[in-house]
Amino acid sequence: MGLLSLGTPMHWDEAKKYADHVRTHGIIQFLNLWEATKDSKKDCLLWGDEIEYMVVSYDDENKKAKLSLRVWEILLELAKEEEEAAKDPAKKLLVNSSWHPEYGRYMLEGTPGEPYMGLPRDLLAVERNMKLRRELACKFMKPNEVPVTLTSYPRLGCAGEGLDPHHEPHGPAARSLFVPDDIINAHVRFPTLTANIRRRRGAKVAINTPIFHDKNTPKPFIDPTIPTFNDYPEDKNAIEQGAALPDHIYMDAMAFGMGCCCLQITFQAVNVEEARKIYDQMAPLGPIMLALTAAAPIYRGYLSDVDCRWNVIAQSVDDRTEEERGLKPLKNSKYRIPKSRYDSIDSYISNDPSNKPEYNDIPLVFDEDIYKKLSDNGIDNLLARHISHLFIRDPLVIFHELLNIDDNESTDHFENLQSTNWQTMRFKPPPSKTSPIGWRVEFRSMEIQLTDFENAAFAIFIVLVTRAVLSFNTNFYIPISKVDENMKVAQNRNAVLGEKFHFRKQIFPHGGSLAPGLDRSDEYELMTIDEIINGAPSKGFPGLLGLVNNYLNTLNIDIETRCEISKYLELIKKRANGTLMTAASWMRQFVQNHPDYKQDSVVSDKINYDLVKMIEKINKGEVQVPELLGTFSV
Ligand code: ADP
Ligand code: MG
Ligand code: MG
Ligand code: MG
Ligand code: MG
Ligand code: MG
Repeated sequence: MGLLSLGTPMHWDEAKKYADHVRTHGIIQFLNLWEATKDSKKDCLLWGDEIEYMVVSYDDENKKAKLSLRVWEILLELAKEEEEAAKDPAKKLLVNSSWHPEYGRYMLEGTPGEPYMGLPRDLLAVERNMKLRRELACKFMKPNEVPVTLTSYPRLGCAGEGLDPHHEPHGPAARSLFVPDDIINAHVRFPTLTANIRRRRGAKVAINTPIFHDKNTPKPFIDPTIPTFNDYPEDKNAIEQGAALPDHIYMDAMAFGMGCCCLQITFQAVNVEEARKIYDQMAPLGPIMLALTAAAPIYRGYLSDVDCRWNVIAQSVDDRTEEERGLKPLKNSKYRIPKSRYDSIDSYISNDPSNKPEYNDIPLVFDEDIYKKLSDNGIDNLLARHISHLFIRDPLVIFHELLNIDDNESTDHFENLQSTNWQTMRFKPPPSKTSPIGWRVEFRSMEIQLTDFENAAFAIFIVLVTRAVLSFNTNFYIPISKVDENMKVAQNRNAVLGEKFHFRKQIFPHGGSLAPGLDRSDEYELMTIDEIINGAPSKGFPGLLGLVNNYLNTLNIDIETRCEISKYLELIKKRANGTLMTAASWMRQFVQNHPDYKQDSVVSDKINYDLVKMIEKINKGEVQVPELLGTFSV
């Protein structure tokens, strides 16, 4: 579970001296791993989800829902369960989950005990296992604590009694005006990551998310609740200093982003080429699934004009210097870097002939020495570009004790950079030379849903899309700059119904040669999410659900299983065509209909309390919300 201490972490001033050391050895480690695993073959699909939870502590007397900072104790209990389950076959079935710490001291991450196989019947275990995880986690919580699957906590960083136990804001790691360092996971890795991002950047992170202007919201909106302190240079007026923008919700700490929850899915491919293919095919779906799973409309007590967490997290870990961000000419920094280390992918990596060079149309920043080292050792152009692009970043947390390690045995330095490039997709090599685990791909853009039913639906949908992709040899390529454009609009309020997205028109393979007079821009057009998911019969476009259903038709599935799977697919269909609301729209509606809401964008303590209680009841099946879930029961 990774709860053990790893040693003494370096302050940024020292860590930066070892950045090249970590990169150089990271590449050697990758090359060693590559030599040993490049021909590795697996014969079956294995896959699994990751669910992140926030633990809420109710103060029912005062009608407050606080974040519980007691998760460490809960994780220790869960670790004990896992250990016992590993030894005792009877217990194994009861536990059947694996638990991990996350950035926030109020967060938990749970995965299935073992990855799922590719059989249709296995899909029916997904929701059951998510329920089991929730119940198991509850076992170690106090009666007033509950795990909720909310993407962004509506009142995180609001003054007052938002944390249990209470802590005043403003610690040395984050220096936040709004949250204390006590909100960060106590494992030294996390406060160090926080402080070193700030130190490398040369300033606190600045997150500005547009506010939703309601009838009574002042225009311009200048937030009256931003406090000032007198300890650090950035403490004075954040508005006067230009850190907090008018008409925006201002946040100033990593916790606002990395303290969000999401739903991630990892699949194992049969070999490295298939993994690269899945990576590319799923990349254009990143923004589509972000808009469809939108679940984060509230930040620091205000309704925002975006529905998704993505840009908030990107800004929350943006460690680029002013030179790297292009605000000053390059002098001390090596490159201009257009994106945060948390952002959408910058290049396709498959050697499939359908991947035309024109699709990689973003000028890629990469480390030329590392590219050369990889090329000289037999790594092909696309993969060498990918890895040397990840390696333009600096390692942020380095432990003294782990500086000099055996590059033949360890992949720590490689993983140091790999795991702090937080992108929409992740291409995961086997964990070690001798691991039974193969080449994998992780799909990372989705927001966590309020219920296990919905999370199961999205997990199952995505894994079925990957099966359809392989079965029909689909071609979803569009220029990657267009995927980035989609990423921007995907986060807008109600993007699922209000925005259009670039998508490829002809998604079945046809050699990739263009008819005379056509160019690549004729290959795609703007489509609604309804068209992308449910198809557009008049254009002969099957939609992703069409693909999935065709794939299911090719399998021999018993009626009962097929019916069960259909329930999940119905949810996706109805979210896409607007019959059902996204979690973000539903939460907005809940706030705007609340008797305490004053049409001023403010989400009060009481509204937050009622919202969290409501979500808990929905999850337990105690209230029906047909506008969110239709007739599906949870
Ligand atoms: P990370 O945090 O690095 O993304 P986790 O260990 O939290 O990774 O989650 C990995 C996910 O991958 C889990 O859902 C797990 O069930 C799944 N998984 C484990 N082994 C395999 C495998 N061999 N192939 C595919 N998925 C796997
Ligand atoms: Mg994980
Ligand atoms: Mg996680
Ligand atoms: Mg996280
Ligand atoms: Mg993950
Ligand atoms: Mg992780």
